[in-house]
Amino acid sequence: MSDETTFPAEPPFGVDEGGLPQDNTQMPEIVFANPNVAVMPSAAIIHADETFQVQWSAFNAGQADSEAFIDNLTIYSVPDCPGSDDNLTAIWSSDADGNPQEFQEPPLPAQAQGPMMQPTVGPFPAGFYRLTVTLNSGNPPAAEQDMSNNVTYNCIEILEADTTGTGSSGDESGTSDQGDTSEGTGSSGDESGISDQGDTSEGSGSQEEGQGLDSATVAEMEDFLDNDPDNLPAMDESEIDNDAMAEGSGGSAPSPCLNGIQVPAAFTTPARDLTRREARDIVVYLIAQGAFTLRESWSPLTFDAQCNVLQPQPSTHVAISPAVIDGVRFVYTGDTRINTISNLDVRMVVVLYRLAHMLRLTWGVTEIRHMGIGHGNGKSNDCHNTGRALDFAGVVGVISNAVITSTNGPYQIDVMNDWGQKPVTMPDGTTRASWPSDFTQTIYRLDPNVDYPAGAIFQDVYNFATLECADSSTQRFGNGAATTIGRGSRFILHPDYPSPAAWGRPAHQNHIHMQVGPTGEEVSPP
Ligand SMILES: [Zn+2]
Repeated sequence: MSDETTFPAEPPFGVDEGGLPQDNTQMPEIVFANPNVAVMPSAAIIHADETFQVQWSAFNAGQADSEAFIDNLTIYSVPDCPGSDDNLTAIWSSDADGNPQEFQEPPLPAQAQGPMMQPTVGPFPAGFYRLTVTLNSGNPPAAEQDMSNNVTYNCIEILEADTTGTGSSGDESGTSDQGDTSEGTGSSGDESGISDQGDTSEGSGSQEEGQGLDSATVAEMEDFLDNDPDNLPAMDESEIDNDAMAEGSGGSAPSPCLNGIQVPAAFTTPARDLTRREARDIVVYLIAQGAFTLRESWSPLTFDAQCNVLQPQPSTHVAISPAVIDGVRFVYTGDTRINTISNLDVRMVVVLYRLAHMLRLTWGVTEIRHMGIGHGNGKSNDCHNTGRALDFAGVVGVISNAVITSTNGPYQIDVMNDWGQKPVTMPDGTTRASWPSDFTQTIYRLDPNVDYPAGAIFQDVYNFATLECADSSTQRFGNGAATTIGRGSRFILHPDYPSPAAWGRPAHQNHIHMQVGPTGEEVSPP
């Protein structure tokens, strides 16, 4: 991935005066420990009145030990993210403005990782900034090395100081993951990285215009945010009827237009790459197939006389009720009685359908347990509150046709119990209860063959997310080769996520976060 390493490379130290190849294997090579999340701010959302830390960690990828060395952090103001290399205005540099001790790296033995560097910077005015880190930046370098991989940046947006937060929600509801601000590839300034940020000051006071939310939906969002058991949505018997299955139920939209709907052209396009119109057409097709039914009082399905779809619009945030998709029940762990999945971006509906379909066919899944889909504790414009994220917490199912028949039967797996609380194996072979708090070289701690079926199912869910959701990029068509669970993970968050920052691994011991689209508000949604 390296889509943001656009700095011109220094001349490599590849040839000596005699023209003979230098033996690179005898040099240290200082690189970023995790190139996928090389430079990260310590908070998902940063305001103009806040300081923050910039975090990175070096790794000596060479075969020779390195001397102690110093890094440089330069912060550039840019008109937009990622900005152009030709138009950089440095506003802060560690050489002039920093505490040198915060940039001093110890000697690094070959194949060893350095400490997490985390100098505090800011506050800075609202705007876009590149956080550019150069490893081993001294002149001359302390460790002579190939200098082609020692510079990278992360482009972030700093928001106006938030004076509107009510701080009133006190929420402990479903989602608790916090976001980051990574990814410098955004072109529209909407790029603020992974989202769901537990910024409780945001509260529920900003339910927005322009999302087509009716008062009932807003009320339900308030309830999610508040999570007061006495303040749950009023539900009639039909809403808590857990036996209702959408598949084959005929739904509540008997329009004759449903009979003639063709398979949409984009039916197999990854959900993350769909326009919302394409996704809306798939949603209507799936309804026609009986995969689920809309809660029509909140998000109706209507056609004109020529059977063109009038509603939902591509921008509509739809509600599905009962909370059953392709025969799989979606259960919110915060209140298992809730039988409506609401505030869904149409692309997320496609994700939920495909996930349910895959898990039902592959693993006999009957129930997907989640910690939030269209609702979160973060900003009103984050990927949960705009209906574009899923916090996957586990599944219930029945294995019925396994070759090893002893594995047949009902099962229930949980991300916390069956993943987050399992021991980890360090590179030296020792096991620990959990990853060290500064560790970034994570691997998938489960063995799908040994930790069966949990390890295999979580692997399938992750692989699904790499195909359908934001994996290495949140931009449409921006995803390249799939990441794997561990140090390469980026926008799919989980118990073995590499970043030990508060928003990263610690916040995701009990769920897998996946999303479509950028984290922050979409200035120009597809
Ligand atoms: Zn999440």
